[in-house]
Amino acid sequence: MAYLTTAPRGTKDILPSESGRWQYLESTLLRTAARYGFREIRIPTFEHTELFSRSVGDTTDVVQKEMYTFTDKGDRSVTLRPEGTAGVARAALEHGLLGDALPLKVSYNITCFRYEKPGSGRYREFHQFGVELYGAASPAADSEILALAYHCLKEVGLGSVVLEINSLGCRECRKRYTQALIQYFDRYRGQLCGTCLERLEKNPLRVLDCKNPEDQRIAAGAPSILDYLCDNCQEHFREVQARLTEAGIPYRVEPTIVRGLDYYTRTVFEMVHTSPNGERVVCGGGGRYGGLIEELGGNPTEGIGFAMGLERLLATMTAEGCGFPPEEPCQVYLASMGESAGVRAFRLASLLRERGISAQCDLMGRSLKAQMKYANKLKARYVVVIGEDELQKGEGLLKSMDTGETTPVRLDEGIQIP
Ligand code: AMP
Repeated sequence: MAYLTTAPRGTKDILPSESGRWQYLESTLLRTAARYGFREIRIPTFEHTELFSRSVGDTTDVVQKEMYTFTDKGDRSVTLRPEGTAGVARAALEHGLLGDALPLKVSYNITCFRYEKPGSGRYREFHQFGVELYGAASPAADSEILALAYHCLKEVGLGSVVLEINSLGCRECRKRYTQALIQYFDRYRGQLCGTCLERLEKNPLRVLDCKNPEDQRIAAGAPSILDYLCDNCQEHFREVQARLTEAGIPYRVEPTIVRGLDYYTRTVFEMVHTSPNGERVVCGGGGRYGGLIEELGGNPTEGIGFAMGLERLLATMTAEGCGFPPEEPCQVYLASMGESAGVRAFRLASLLRERGISAQCDLMGRSLKAQMKYANKLKARYVVVIGEDELQKGEGLLKSMDTGETTPVRLDEGIQIP
């Protein structure tokens, strides 16, 4: 029976008391991105499995271990999206958006699914806000994405965020760097975890991303990608930094950032908040990707974007005491005694709602006393009591619940609520 009253592990209900915060966060992020020209795209919750194994990279943890993959009734393998970039790229290709005026700028608010061990802010279904910018290879595009990432967090009240940036270089830089990494890690074969030994064969960069403390200690001494960048990649990275400095956007270069997915090239970054007790909170991250659109069958097209985890962002905002807009309270409660008064209350409530005023009336057949108690619970700003006398006169008293003050109010189309 517990299955009927307990949500699946790693999922979470967003209750009516919390949803206002979510609406505020999501709309603020979308609005901020819109100022930079990003328009929202909505993509399906599931895609063909191949889309993710092709784009996210089949050596990543996400694809190897965490995907919610199943065979549908038509015998097709489909996967609940573990992230947004692949689906957005697929949609951009499918609808010819990359043939229109470039750059293409899109934003999204989505749920993502990863079969992870739940706990400490990790869920199996979670929410991401993200953006993608296609068609611009310039450092200017990187700077704009970084500026937007910073701006989004500032807009919701996290003003002390720092962008940690790195460059993974182009294919050529990566090739030389990968060789250097293999040489370095080879000496520690006896000490690396089993997964990292496998990574060393398939994708040595991933070893830098291992969460195992012993592996992390070894990785700390590994060569830095920044020493392997070609002239062009160095110049690109330098220009991104010059623009950030010019615009006053706080950043620091962090050569260990490689990001979890395979498709990144050149600029990668994380948005890092440091809590008062010194804890490093990563609110999200992103980067540039070169081969993704090509991998999906399109013409070579540069992309850059980021995604932030909204569960973590909300928790950080709450811990930091960021303000949230108050919920819209009930403006007026129309209490009634008797059936005719109840019908009038309903009519007046409808009228007020049409005028944009939030109004409620009794649906429970409660006594007047119980209705007043309920109006209090709703934190209604005003209450009108409608009984036989009021019906006859077509007028009642509007009581301010704040001051207790009463003023006459008409109980027909002429009703006016402050
Ligand atoms: P990623 O797509 O792995 O780069 O993740 C982007 C952001 O999504 C991270 O910074 C996290 O805040 C968030 N995120 C990733 N996985 C989870 C998860 N299992 N539960 C909650 N948030 C997550």
